[in-house]
Amino acid sequence: MKVCFKCKQEKPLTEFRRYKSGVNKGLYHSYCKKCSHKKYPWEKTYIHICSRRNDKTNKNYKRYKNIKMLLTHGDLKFLWFRDKAYNMEHSSIDRINPQKHYTLENCRYIEYRENCRQGGLKTKADYISYSTLTVKELRREKRKIEKRLRELKRRNALKSWKWGKKIKR
Ligand SMILES: [Zn+2]
Repeated sequence: MKVCFKCKQEKPLTEFRRYKSGVNKGLYHSYCKKCSHKKYPWEKTYIHICSRRNDKTNKNYKRYKNIKMLLTHGDLKFLWFRDKAYNMEHSSIDRINPQKHYTLENCRYIEYRENCRQGGLKTKADYISYSTLTVKELRREKRKIEKRLRELKRRNALKSWKWGKKIKR
C-alpha cells in the first residue's frame, strides 16, 4: 500500500504507475493513477488504447487486433496540446486513416461526438487535410510545443493553470 501525494488516500501499489526510464526507473509515481489522469489527461488515452488492444473481453478486440500502438506518452502529450484537446468537451483520439496504426502522423484529438459521427465513413478530404505534414515536420512541431511548455513551466505560468482549462497566453 502507498499513500497518494495528491488525494492522500492509501491505495494498493497496482494503483500507481512506475517510471520506465530515467533516474527513477522502477520506482512508483507519487500520484495514483486516478490523480495522474487528472493531471496528465493524455495518459488516460494511452491506457485506453492499450486496454482496447489487449483486453480480449472488450467488444472491440477483434477490430483492434491488427492495429499497432506506436505512440509514446510524449507523442500523446504533443497531440493533446497541438489539437487543443484541453478545450474540448470530451476529447478522444482518432486515427485519421482507420486502416493504419496508432502513429504520430495518423492520430489526432477530436471531439468524441465527432469521432462517433464519422465512424468508418471518412471522406478523402479528411485524410488530405492531415497528410500534408511529413514525420520530420511533425517531430519539429513537437519539439516546438515541448519548448513552449518548458518555458511556461519555468516562468511558473503553468502554476495556476489547471488541466482541462485554457492556457494563459
Ligand atoms: Zn490520488
